[in-house]
Amino acid sequence: MENLKDRFWSLAACDQASGDLLRESKRIPTKVAELEAKAEAARDVADASKARVDQADAHRRAKEVELQDTEAQREKFQGQAPMVKTNQEYTALLHEVEVATQKISAIEEEILVAMDESDRRLAEYKIVEKEQGEIEAGLRREIDEYGKRLVEVERDLKVQEERRITEVGLLPDAAKLHYTRIHKRHGTATAWVVNGNCGRCHNQIPPEWINQVIRGEMKACGSCQRILVIPEE
Ligand SMILES: [Zn+2]
Repeated sequence: MENLKDRFWSLAACDQASGDLLRESKRIPTKVAELEAKAEAARDVADASKARVDQADAHRRAKEVELQDTEAQREKFQGQAPMVKTNQEYTALLHEVEVATQKISAIEEEILVAMDESDRRLAEYKIVEKEQGEIEAGLRREIDEYGKRLVEVERDLKVQEERRITEVGLLPDAAKLHYTRIHKRHGTATAWVVNGNCGRCHNQIPPEWINQVIRGEMKACGSCQRILVIPEE
């Protein structure tokens, strides 16, 4: 009888270990998904900062093109000077040249502002890229750790399952039959007695049953039918 009690204790410990491992194995993918989302968010912050750099550069280049066009326009007006015939035409042409010159000066100012903006955004991006890159790298390391842990958990689950099968194989026929039937039904066939209750379904266990279990007899919970085990002497 003493052997049977030890066997049940061993099976209950095995069920508990497997349960803990199974819960952990289910938590890991959720945790990894959370970390992936955070890593993605860090990348998005850096990408948004890079987009602001590109936007500023594009604005500066557009202004440079506008400057070239306006300069070409002014040259065209200046080239027309020898061909004008009247004073009125000449005055009109001079006005066009003056307008173009003023526009060129305004665009040159805008280019200086745009260059400052480009530099400022690039400097900002370098800081953001470094910060977010470090955050992302940290998250990736954490994700790797979870990946390694999951491999361990799955390996330990196999070990526990092998241990369980071995222990079940050593049970006397009647106990083996009951254990196998309940395990098939619930996924677990043992229950610790906790504060006089079944640790699985919380059904109250009569005190005399607890004494019988302590003596090494097999008793099953009246409600869930799992084999009752006392956690410690
Ligand atoms: Zn129960």
